[in-house]
Amino acid sequence: VLFWSFGLFGLLAVLVSYIISRFNMRPILKSWQQQQDFVNNAAHELRTPMAVIQGKLENMLMKPESTVRDQSNAIILSLSEVRRLTSLTNNMLTLAKSGSNMTKIEKKATNVSEFLGEIIAPYEEMAQFDGKKVTLNVDVDQEVFIDQKRIHQLLVLLLDNALKYSDEGALVSVKAGIEKKKFILSVADTGRGISDEAKKHVFDRFYREDKTGNRETGGTGLGLSIAEWVVQAHGGKITVLDNTPQGTIFRIALPL
Ligand code: ADP
Repeated sequence: VLFWSFGLFGLLAVLVSYIISRFNMRPILKSWQQQQDFVNNAAHELRTPMAVIQGKLENMLMKPESTVRDQSNAIILSLSEVRRLTSLTNNMLTLAKSGSNMTKIEKKATNVSEFLGEIIAPYEEMAQFDGKKVTLNVDVDQEVFIDQKRIHQLLVLLLDNALKYSDEGALVSVKAGIEKKKFILSVADTGRGISDEAKKHVFDRFYREDKTGNRETGGTGLGLSIAEWVVQAHGGKITVLDNTPQGTIFRIALPL
């Protein structure tokens, strides 16, 4: 019986590996594995803020003698976790739709100065509160075809990161230009920079250089995956480089 069982098992294994290579199923298996990883990571990421909210609410319920101040602190913390959950689920939804090609890119002729000016204006003001500076430099004298909603989303992700991963006194400069028939956008900061090892992974879903899940920077590790998808959906390329003397540059090249 043992002999026949092993024989049958071996035959099955050979048959399965033949089917996988004969019908070129490796990409399907890889994408299935990626889906599995995504679900696992997503569940893990959702669990933490939910546990915090549950803990705070249970604590409030079990300690009716707690002061109003304690209660409002618990509510403030729970609210910030709810916000985190909202941003996480929105990001996950964007990526899920991007994977299934449900989101179409709708390019429109765009005046670059006007378009970027409107996006940057609130950041210029916001940065001043933290003693940082955001500048815009546009050297494009023609209209470019872009999906405004998506490129807006991309810039918000890059600007948020540039400010989040830099300290007081930092400079964030956004530049737009044309090089070799490509529309080039870059967001450079003078912040803490990215290690060479991390550069290989920053566009991976749920990747974060700070593995401690620092609440202050509060990242989800999905922002740059979305940024990469937006750029690729435009037929472009996004790269990450070191800024000199310190900091990071995200450079985007889009076909005109
Ligand atoms: P997060 O939500 O954690 O910011 P992202 O996908 O936007 O996720 O970024 C992934 C990781 O890349 C971040 O956790 C951070 O370690 C690193 N990173 C992104 N942008 C910058 C930047 N401008 N400077 C330094 N590190 C950055």
